[in-house]
Amino acid sequence: MEAVQDFPKLFPVEYWNKKSAEGRFPEEFWRECGRRRLSGFLIPKNYDGLGNSLENLCQAVVYLGMHGFGTGVYPLLSNNMSSLVIINSGNEEICRLFLPKLASGEYVMGLAVTEKESGSDVLSIKSSAVKRGDKYIINGEKMYVNNFDRATHMLLAVRTTPVENVSKKSEGITLFILDLKQKGLTFKELEKMGTDYYRTAVMTMRDVVVGDEMVVGEVGRGWKALTYALNPDRIVYAALAVGSAFFAIRTAASYASQRTVFGKPIGMNQGIQLPLAAHYAEAEAAKLLTIEAARKFDRGERCDVEACLAKYFSSEVVFKAVSHAVQVLGGYGYLKETGLERVLRDVYLLKSGPITQELALAYVAEKGLGLPRSY
Ligand SMILES: Cc1cc2nc3c(=O)[nH]c(=O)nc-3n(C[C@H](O)[C@H](O)[C@H](O)COP(=O)(O)OP(=O)(O)OC[C@H]3O[C@@H](n4cnc5c(N)ncnc54)[C@H](O)[C@@H]3O)c2cc1C
Repeated sequence: MEAVQDFPKLFPVEYWNKKSAEGRFPEEFWRECGRRRLSGFLIPKNYDGLGNSLENLCQAVVYLGMHGFGTGVYPLLSNNMSSLVIINSGNEEICRLFLPKLASGEYVMGLAVTEKESGSDVLSIKSSAVKRGDKYIINGEKMYVNNFDRATHMLLAVRTTPVENVSKKSEGITLFILDLKQKGLTFKELEKMGTDYYRTAVMTMRDVVVGDEMVVGEVGRGWKALTYALNPDRIVYAALAVGSAFFAIRTAASYASQRTVFGKPIGMNQGIQLPLAAHYAEAEAAKLLTIEAARKFDRGERCDVEACLAKYFSSEVVFKAVSHAVQVLGGYGYLKETGLERVLRDVYLLKSGPITQELALAYVAEKGLGLPRSY
């Protein structure tokens, strides 16, 4: 937390409002993250990272969210999540090649897994890599490639064995580090509701040649490699939701204490203050769930159900808190300057990413309650 204590001063709500309105990557924020090695928060110190814990990353993300950073922190999360996969499954050469540059922010890495026909049913991806000598030829299409104009690399999941030829759908997927300057890549930008600090595209891969030294983990076992980061990914997004909920509650409470209507501050009405207190209770509960899930991960314990609970609950809480905060501010809440409408558009994404609310619940029903698998 200490590492980001002064960030709200350096990057106030107006900064994020401006970046969002301009549709620009937050370069100044990213430079500062790199300078302080926050982009390598989870990367071990021997690879130039901070070697810190997921719990502390979540605390930092909650703090930034609380100050209106919204989904502007995305590159911080994606570099750390990609790093986790590399740390856990990459060989020494890949670790040495990528981790220090991910930690310093020189490299910006995202995750390219989802395809047009394979979102929740992610194991049905069809993009393929075919081996030719010591190279792979990659073809296919990936949806939602974030920061396509600014990222340097993607952690790319493709099939090296078609789904028809594997005994389990989770087999036959291989992870590659894809340099976005490769020949054969084209991007078509997608217009979005929010998260305007980064641009998102459909990426088409036509005969893209990648050396086999760019394989992360074992060939055909990419899903296993990726799953190491799935739970922490859900947990950091829960932290982002919790922080944004606090931002909304604080903004609404501060406004309600000052705004006078019918001769008294609107915050004197229980119709205003009780729902805000209820959101506050929920946000604190969501924070506890999130931090507990992160602690379990840090201790090397199973945290899959907790990660889904935290992601589901925090996303519900933030959506309610931000929508209500907009209402408390009346017409003013509809204006851009408070940052609430921006954060409202941002957090809508958390209902479907990185796992949808429905699939998070279906997972909890199966693994947490022992009900039959429904998906
Ligand atoms: C801005 C943005 C950024 C993204 N970034 C990335 C990224 O960096 N990398 C990446 O790989 N992907 C990314 N995604 C993709 C995201 O992870 C998917 O959108 C998400 O996993 C859901 O997949 P889908 O959109 O195909 O929905 P679908 O799987 O088509 O689902 C549609 C709806 O049906 C529901 N549904 C499906 N099956 C069931 C069931 N059995 N029971 C109940 N309900 C069900 C879902 O919950 C959902 O509400 C991003 C998406 C967006 C919008």
